Amino acid sequence: MSMNTQGRPTSPGEAGEGAHKTFTGNKGLAMEEALLFEIGRTDITGVDLDEPDEFEPELGSLARKDPVELAALSEPEAMRHYVRLSTKNYAIDSGLYPLGSCTMKHNPRLNEKAARLPGFGDIHPLQPLSTVPGAVDLISELGHWLMVLTGMSAVAMSPKAGAHGELCGMMAIKAAHIAAGRDPKIVLVPESAHGTNPATAALLGYQVVAVDAREDGTVDPGEVQARIAEHAGNVAAIMLTNPNTCGIFERDIIEIAAAVHEADAYFYCDGANFNAIVGKAKPGDLGVDAMHINLHKTFSTPHGGGGPGAGPVVLSDRLAPFAPLPFIRAGKDGPVLVETEAGTEGGEKPFGRMTAFHGQMGMFVRALAYMKSHGSDGLKQASEDAVLNANYVRVGLEDLMSLPFGSRWCMHEVLFDDTFLKDTGVSTLDFAKAMIDEGYHPMTMYFPLVVHGAMLIEPTESESRASLDLFVATLRDLVMSAKRGETERFSGAPYLAPRRRLDETRAARKPILKWERPAPQSVQPEAAE
Ligand SMILES: *Cc1c(COP(=O)(O)O)cnc(C)c1O
Repeated sequence: MSMNTQGRPTSPGEAGEGAHKTFTGNKGLAMEEALLFEIGRTDITGVDLDEPDEFEPELGSLARKDPVELAALSEPEAMRHYVRLSTKNYAIDSGLYPLGSCTMKHNPRLNEKAARLPGFGDIHPLQPLSTVPGAVDLISELGHWLMVLTGMSAVAMSPKAGAHGELCGMMAIKAAHIAAGRDPKIVLVPESAHGTNPATAALLGYQVVAVDAREDGTVDPGEVQARIAEHAGNVAAIMLTNPNTCGIFERDIIEIAAAVHEADAYFYCDGANFNAIVGKAKPGDLGVDAMHINLHKTFSTPHGGGGPGAGPVVLSDRLAPFAPLPFIRAGKDGPVLVETEAGTEGGEKPFGRMTAFHGQMGMFVRALAYMKSHGSDGLKQASEDAVLNANYVRVGLEDLMSLPFGSRWCMHEVLFDDTFLKDTGVSTLDFAKAMIDEGYHPMTMYFPLVVHGAMLIEPTESESRASLDLFVATLRDLVMSAKRGETERFSGAPYLAPRRRLDETRAARKPILKWERPAPQSVQPEAAE
């Protein structure tokens, strides 16, 4: 296959071997889109600017001598370029998106409308407070509902994503230990945890001690007690996800929380899976001291390739004083935004700040719009539907695919392992790639690490029964095909995608982030496959 200097195919129709070749490289009406630098020209512009008046440049010897050589397109070309790029992003708005753990949440258009209201969309974080009381009210009201829904006492709104929220919560925990004259060094993290949990603990200088999972995929309070006893006096916190990453509710969570508190340690709950329990259980009732809420996974907003995240952190009474700046305090004339140490009062001992400003305003608007349009009954039903949908998929597939922890109720996502693919010559990766040919974004693969060849499926609660039926039927067809030995359907998949199997490791380890102008005389190099 011939490649350009950026490692992208150049000659016609090479997007899929064996597929029908085309002269343009386009497939039907799906366009191959080159980089702006490859299609643009440096000698044209899409804008017609007035000639500037005579002026004396003040840059002296610093004035640029060579042209900038930015590639430009005509206006219609520029529009087409960006419109085509926009269609390459697979999103929950294009189809079922069963990416487990990531909770690809439905994002009602109403939220978008609210987020674009000029009073929210056009404000600036450095505007005088007197000009944005409505925005402060909105942040305050959203924070209020987050505390109500979680049963917690304080909230830090500024963290920008789940992982950032983890860092914030753990920094509050560290500050609380230091304030109490302690300096424990260990954080307990169950094996099934999301990678961000141990990474957060390590970033703060903690040593991570793993807690083994039980046969049924949950954490054993006995194990937690044993680890605490082993490291007596030196455990700062446990970081636990509930419902956990295997899609199972940790039934012994109260006992675990009690053991942790008994040891003067804190319970950090990874709240990424809050979508499964909103309106059903309050983390505050379960003994949680700090929990981030991925607004993008629970209260809508497209995320990942589709938009930013937001990770407010709710805190228990014990941690509330350490909430970072800026925070909002209820004042007698409405909410007061506290932005600096000088504005703190009484027991407020903020550990510092996480970000320059107040958080992701656009997401706050979307989250509050989502909450208010659903109401408490609607939020509860969304959780119930998320769990129902995952169990519908589980029941539809459990006779053909293997459940590592046996047939039992799952929460909002269902975890399969690769036992059902044994002796078929098809791997989890192959299976996922074949889903792409069928028009489905694959489920989460190889996570959590506690089961072999994991496939974690999380259907959005807004999927209809018809849509789930088609998804289940497609997966059943794929499983039967694998079992019949039709390995070709899998080994080369995806056959129909614009790109086939990419070297994902190389792409992650050695990304080409800079466009290099091809050498002038050279013809496109013929690179061997
Ligand atoms: C998504 C997720 C995170 C990280 O959240 P981001 O918003 O992506 O930073 C942490 N833990 C779990 C269990 C998750 O699913």
